[in-house]
Amino acid sequence: MAATQFEAVDARRCFPCWDEPALKAAFQITLDVPLELTALSNMPILKEKLNGDIKTVYFEESPMMSTYLVAVVVGSFDSVEETTADGIRVRVYCPPGKSDNGKFALHVAVKALELYTRYFSVPYPLPKLDMVAVPEFAGGAMENYGLIIYRENDMLHDELQSTAAKKQRLSEQITVVAMHEVAHQWFGNLVTMEWWTHLWLNEGFATWVSYMATDNLFPEWKVWTQFLQYTASGLHMDSLEKSHPIEVEIIHARAVLEIFDAISYEKGSAVIQMLQSYLGDAIFQKSLSSYMKRYAWKNAKTEDLWSVLTEESGVEVTNLMETWTKQKGYPLISVNLNGHILAFEQSQFLLSGLAGEGLWIVPITLCLGSYERQKKFLLKTRCGEIDISDLFNSPSDCLGLSEENDPEKFKEHFWIKINIYQSGFYRVKYEDKLATQLIKAIESNYVSAPDKFGILDDTHALCQAGKQSLSSLLTLMGVYRKDIDYTVVSNLIEVCYNIVKVYYDAFPDSVDYLRQYFINILRPSAELGWESVSGEPHLNVLLRGEISMALASFGDEKTHEDAIRRFKSLLMDRNTPLLSADTKRAAYIAVMRKTTVASRNYFESLLSIYREADTVQEKERILRHLAASPDPDIVMEVLNFLASDEVRDQDIIYGFRGISLEGREAAWKWLKDHWDFILNKYGTGLLFTNFLTDIIALFSSNEKADEVEAFFANRTTLAFAMNLKQSIEQVRIKARWVQNIKQEESLPELIKQLAIKG
Ligand SMILES: [Zn+2]
Repeated sequence: MAATQFEAVDARRCFPCWDEPALKAAFQITLDVPLELTALSNMPILKEKLNGDIKTVYFEESPMMSTYLVAVVVGSFDSVEETTADGIRVRVYCPPGKSDNGKFALHVAVKALELYTRYFSVPYPLPKLDMVAVPEFAGGAMENYGLIIYRENDMLHDELQSTAAKKQRLSEQITVVAMHEVAHQWFGNLVTMEWWTHLWLNEGFATWVSYMATDNLFPEWKVWTQFLQYTASGLHMDSLEKSHPIEVEIIHARAVLEIFDAISYEKGSAVIQMLQSYLGDAIFQKSLSSYMKRYAWKNAKTEDLWSVLTEESGVEVTNLMETWTKQKGYPLISVNLNGHILAFEQSQFLLSGLAGEGLWIVPITLCLGSYERQKKFLLKTRCGEIDISDLFNSPSDCLGLSEENDPEKFKEHFWIKINIYQSGFYRVKYEDKLATQLIKAIESNYVSAPDKFGILDDTHALCQAGKQSLSSLLTLMGVYRKDIDYTVVSNLIEVCYNIVKVYYDAFPDSVDYLRQYFINILRPSAELGWESVSGEPHLNVLLRGEISMALASFGDEKTHEDAIRRFKSLLMDRNTPLLSADTKRAAYIAVMRKTTVASRNYFESLLSIYREADTVQEKERILRHLAASPDPDIVMEVLNFLASDEVRDQDIIYGFRGISLEGREAAWKWLKDHWDFILNKYGTGLLFTNFLTDIIALFSSNEKADEVEAFFANRTTLAFAMNLKQSIEQVRIKARWVQNIKQEESLPELIKQLAIKG
């Protein structure tokens, strides 16, 4: 098989060209290929000529397009196909014998073409669309014009083998990825960014539109709530001093790959979401359609889009949005209530705890006591006030807001949530009395899932930045213990994992109490059990997987006993009813947490399961947890296994995500020992930065940050300079968090009490 990947700057390695996005050309492609193979390119085949066991394939001439979108694939495939209502032929190419696994992606692609044709009021620009899954692919997928290429994990859907969790995530993942790539056929391919500085126009929009389209097709997945989980990583990265603006200056070709990151994708899509919810659906859609028609077959800059939106909406979009795309970072909004006046103050939020210089035009939304009583305004200066008297039903103050502002007199329904549904890209810090009322509102279940997500996420970040104590965060987390919303609980678990990582370095002797407290918080949701119930909501199935994995990670004994019993049954019978595919990952974690050099039988069994697995999903599931052993020698052995021929090159990164805290020194040693190997094999590709970010992220001391800096002092190249700086900064931020935690001297005792209380 052969497949190309030219984005960002590799078309020049295949044929001579002016390899820049603004220099579009029409392409006529001809391939000489072995007779028995399928040859694909951007356009349909015009004619073929046979010459012995070689055939010459001539493709139709393409419309004007950028070089990075040119593609060819040659190989042996089975395919499935459908035709859209507009007569566009869509084909999905799979490994021989696996064409059934491509049917789901085919269904999504057909829906996507129909949906975007309506949404943009511009027809799909090419005569056909092909989609291909290939066995080695660094990214998730690539939107080559008319020929989208995917990694197998992101396109093939094995319905029998997939866990329900994976099935939903996979089908969700497959849906979101396919929706994203098909959206690029308009956003990126038809209208292309002028230069890589505007990469986010491609990626931020394709991402945002993919959620819109997925929500349209599968409303029961509630993907807009899950979108918050996605954009949270944008908020995290953008609170680093070493972050970069959405519109970033690109001078060197090799530096382009570094900006395919959480700023271009996650922050990019989040600021679009913020603008869209401020302007409203109808105006936004109409503006995108005008933009598409005006710049079709051409290139556009960020300001071109703002001009169209300004014209269509009458709102000064350019001024508003430039504060978000031309400067890095985002604001923390502090809120105080005095009588009927809410006072706001913005300052740039940094995890270092320092206040940055930035100033934004912030679309502030708020609600009082219910989602019916809303207000919105633009905060354009550092400080601002707003009178909220009109939000009260009667002047007699039915919410209990008293003149003297005494929180004791607030009634239950008195709560204020800023940034409704978390649609704005900023964080909020409430004064104490407002925070207390909000906690009560969460307990009484008045607050929506996105807002519960946001309150926890903001508090977590404030705690990392040293603006709030860990004990107050732990208390807040207790309030979430009965929650059953999948995204909210996933975030809760994520926060638990992060706290354990730093607490392990602050108070190693009492980390088991902390784990016990988290087990207590998660236990009520663990009543979902191990086996799926027929007809249950899909998000429950996902939740079961997350909770069981967390309990296994935190060492819950009951979970471990269950897990090992069920794993033994899996060894006897691969189709055992005792271990549904959804909870397999929890069992694999338990197996690896029990594995040491002296006790490695189950580990060997797990490796056998890996070797005989014939689906990419099962292999991925196992790889994700192999490095979870508490024994550094096992972790070292696993890392060598990951780099061996038994694991696909693209899959090595799955293994890094699961490295145990006990194994981090071994992993760092492995990284240093294998640096030349890594550089040679991955140095020019998209996966390269994962080696740094995933392994360095395990540490939380300044000494280690110094050591990492020293090691890379003579080894840094343009391909990863920015990512390295960001990784080191994150280690220092955690080191500071560890120091803050150590100063909360009463913490170990508090945690012990919380753990015992149950
Ligand atoms: Zn993309």
